Amino acid sequence: MSDKSPAAIRERVRRFIEERIYPIEHELEDLPPTDYLRRMRPLMDRTKADGLWALGHPKEIGGQGMAFMDYVLVNEVIGRSEHAMLAFGTHSLQDSIMLHLYADRHWRERYLAPLVAGEVFPSIGMTEPEVASSDPTQLRTAARLENGHWVIKGRKWFTTWANRAAYTTVFARTEDASVPAHSAFSMIVVPTDAPGYKIVRETPVLGMKGGHCEVLLDDVRVPENHLLGPRGHGFKIAQKRLGPGRIFHCMRWLGQAQRAFDLMAKRATERTAFGGKLADKQLVQKMIFDSAAEIQACRLLTLDAARKMDAGDEARVEIGLIKVVGAKMVHEVIDRAIQVHGAKGVTADTPLERMYRHARFARIYDGPDEVHIQTVGRRILDVYRQGGDWDFGARDAQHAS
Ligand SMILES: Cc1cc2nc3c(=O)[nH]c(=O)nc-3n(C[C@H](O)[C@H](O)[C@H](O)COP(=O)(O)OP(=O)(O)OC[C@H]3O[C@@H](n4cnc5c(N)ncnc54)[C@H](O)[C@@H]3O)c2cc1C
Repeated sequence: MSDKSPAAIRERVRRFIEERIYPIEHELEDLPPTDYLRRMRPLMDRTKADGLWALGHPKEIGGQGMAFMDYVLVNEVIGRSEHAMLAFGTHSLQDSIMLHLYADRHWRERYLAPLVAGEVFPSIGMTEPEVASSDPTQLRTAARLENGHWVIKGRKWFTTWANRAAYTTVFARTEDASVPAHSAFSMIVVPTDAPGYKIVRETPVLGMKGGHCEVLLDDVRVPENHLLGPRGHGFKIAQKRLGPGRIFHCMRWLGQAQRAFDLMAKRATERTAFGGKLADKQLVQKMIFDSAAEIQACRLLTLDAARKMDAGDEARVEIGLIKVVGAKMVHEVIDRAIQVHGAKGVTADTPLERMYRHARFARIYDGPDEVHIQTVGRRILDVYRQGGDWDFGARDAQHAS
């Protein structure tokens, strides 16, 4: 096996995380952005030197150009630690592809290379506190064109890492009420130092700091060429970003589940109660069984969605399925691992309690469960309404040929 084969890279990434990131995870928790980045820099420099930086970014924008399916599997390992995305420079993939495909040349030149290199950071502002943002047609942030500038007004929240970002990609209504909602919104690149851009607060989540910022856009003015893609294409661009993004999320959740599974199994084989190891108790064996079944089922669903996407299919039903199944799976597996650890499981002596809190977010971000369930159900039923059927085998056969 060559040092650069996908399997070897996956193994090198795993070793790096276990040897260099696990031991310092506690020190990294909830540090302010500048201290956090200072602490992360040596790790980032190291992965760059080792040829493990930006593995999935296309070569033409400064990445290693790893093939999509190989990179999907690397993401599973990267998922084991919440800090690994930054350490390996994978955090910027979706944003750099958006800039690469849709930004004006001027902006590509300004941000793209430093973004891929981890010298500047992106953030994305869709969600708003005042409206149910799982229905983004309701979003109220608006941008009007005035003398060659977009003037943007609105309030966003959960703009993750706005407090370390060079810019926020703001989702705003640019067209008037006569335009159908799905063609009325655009994405606009807004530098975080633009006058009128104000971080109001960082919202703590389940007792943690995750850089989730509330942002006031108070008549922020940016030049017209900060628009990503054509006017009114916000939903189309968001969709391009979200599809592969959800596959990477799911793979990282599988990485979290694997870590919890390892800890659970190890604890069960070491701890003794009622005259025998926990591993000998049938109820604990059932927890191992349920977790193994859920992890592998979710892996296969996710890899299937990834293969369909790699073959050029949008795979919207498959992506909706994995988003819901994956978020539930990671939550359940970590929950069982905590149970097998007893009181220790809810202390910070193991990574499980923090992983558990992160897992809870998975059912909300990138669209809450209910929205994906509704969309998948509706899409499948639409096929039957039109006289067809949703033939699972035929879909697979179509992609196999
Ligand atoms: C950790 C974390 C990080 C995030 N990072 C970002 C980020 O970087 N940028 C960004 O823009 N946003 C981010 N978000 C926000 C996230 O994308 C939104 O919270 C999500 O889209 C839901 O919107 P909402 O909170 O307004 O919930 P709402 O739309 O108010 O929905 C509330 C609840 O209503 C129910 N519901 C909604 N629709 C339906 C339906 N059709 N049928 C049945 N029930 C329904 C669901 O239970 C849902 O949870 C983040 C969120 C979290 C938790």
